[in-house]
Order: sequence, then C-alpha cells, then structure tokens
Amino acid sequence: MRARPIAFVALAFLAVADAAFAQPAECARERDEMLDTIRAHVWSSPDFTGGKMSDGVLAAMRSVPRQRFVPGGACAEGYADSPVRIGHGQTVSQPFVVAAMTELAAVAPAHTVLEIGTGSGYQAAVLSPLVSKVCTIEIVGELATGAALLLRELGYGNIHVRAGDGYRGWPECGPFDAVIVTAALGHVPPPLIEQLKPGGRLVMPVGEPGRTQRLTVLEKSATGEISERIVGLVRFVPFTRGRDQVP
Ligand code: SAH
Repeated sequence: MRARPIAFVALAFLAVADAAFAQPAECARERDEMLDTIRAHVWSSPDFTGGKMSDGVLAAMRSVPRQRFVPGGACAEGYADSPVRIGHGQTVSQPFVVAAMTELAAVAPAHTVLEIGTGSGYQAAVLSPLVSKVCTIEIVGELATGAALLLRELGYGNIHVRAGDGYRGWPECGPFDAVIVTAALGHVPPPLIEQLKPGGRLVMPVGEPGRTQRLTVLEKSATGEISERIVGLVRFVPFTRGRDQVP
C-alpha cells in the first residue's frame, strides 16, 4: 500500500496550512468580493505585479478579518475597495495595494520582514502567515499600542510591534529578507537598505507626500549591489520623523 503514507503526508500538510490561513466566518461574502476585486486589479493593472498574484498572498488576504482593523468593524467598510481612515490622520491602504506590496516583497516562510508604519496592524497581519517573523514600527504611540493589542487578541504570535520612528529601522529584530514601508518619503532611508539581507527586497512609496508617489522595489543582490525599479503610482500618508532625528 504505497499510496497511504503519501496521502497521510498530504493531509498533515493541509492541516498545517489550514491553521495558518484560517478563514473567519464573519463577513465571508464581503471577503470573497474583496478577493474578486483584487484579482480584477491584478489583471487591469499589470504593471504593479506583472499581472501575477501568488496563491499564498491571496490566501493570506482571505484569512485576515479586515473588519477588525477598521473603526466600527462593519463588513461593508472593512472590505471596500478603498483606503479606510484609522484615526490620527492615518489610513489603512486599499486591499489591492496591500496585496501588491506583499507580492512585490516576494516573501517566503523562513523570512524575517520589517514593516515601517504599523497603523492598524493590517499589513502586518497579512504578512504573518506567510513568513517566520514580522517586525513592525509605528511612530504614533496610540496606534502602535492598539495594533499590538489587536494582533495579540487575534493570535498573531510572530509579529513584534514597536513604537518609534522607523527611519533607523530595527537592527536587533533583523537583518531582514524584506522591508515594506507604508508611508511616503522622498528617499529610501539608508538604514533600511543596510538592514536588508543580500538578496533582499524593499518596497516603498517614494516621493512627495500629498501627491502621488512612485511605488519602488529596491533589490540588494547577493553581492550587495542595489537596483531599483518603479512599478506604479500610489498615494500614501507622509513618513514623519521623530523629534530626536534629523529630517
Ligand atoms: N500599514 C498600515 C497603514 C499605514 S498608514 C496598516 O496596514 O494599517 C502609514 C503609517 O505610517 C501611519 O500609521 C503613520 O503614523 C506611520 N508612520 C509615518 N511615519 C513613520 C515613521 N517615521 N516611523 C514609523 N511609522 C511611521
């Protein structure tokens, strides 16, 4: 009976995958619609991700109860195809942009990832089942505290949240296989490039806050060379600087 062990292994794998990508019961219809909309954007905006979106990223998007990350917790607003205000003048990005940035970061299960701009904690939650460890920094103390509490309540055990200015990165949590910056600045902070491993990727909106920015993918080769490409135009809230730091 040769087939048996193979079937057993396959079932065991499915059980693990199910646990990591659990599907919340609430807002199921809205979440399905969000997934359809993301697929439509992938098709209609092929520049961003080359017309591709991996099954893992889609499964992660499907697994996160997005309504819990927006004020009010309504299904309609939670899964709408638009950014949502989360207080303190900040927003959680449109679902397609979160999915596209996750896809562009090319994450893998063994990866350690840094996010700058925790906000609601949603992008960190989407990364969580796809990687080994997520380190995320938020400059607004109340948002950092709120996100850390929610992520703990929802059982995201591999996310580390820190309050502070993310410009200098988080060397003790790294080095990083990928960095995602979710706030706009005119340049990529050099410390974030330093903390990127060889072969790593950084995804960030580069440009003036208040206007459209260039969604940029920076890659560090195995030998340390840096290359950059622009994949599309986006609009993000400003990357602000801590009082103790040089602008
Ligand atoms: N990724 C978030 C949304 C980000 S909005 C989510 O999924 O909900 C951008 C966030 O970046 C805001 O919360 C803003 O306060 C934060 N931010 C801006 N400048 C920052 C900095 N220098 N360091 C860390 N966070 C910063």
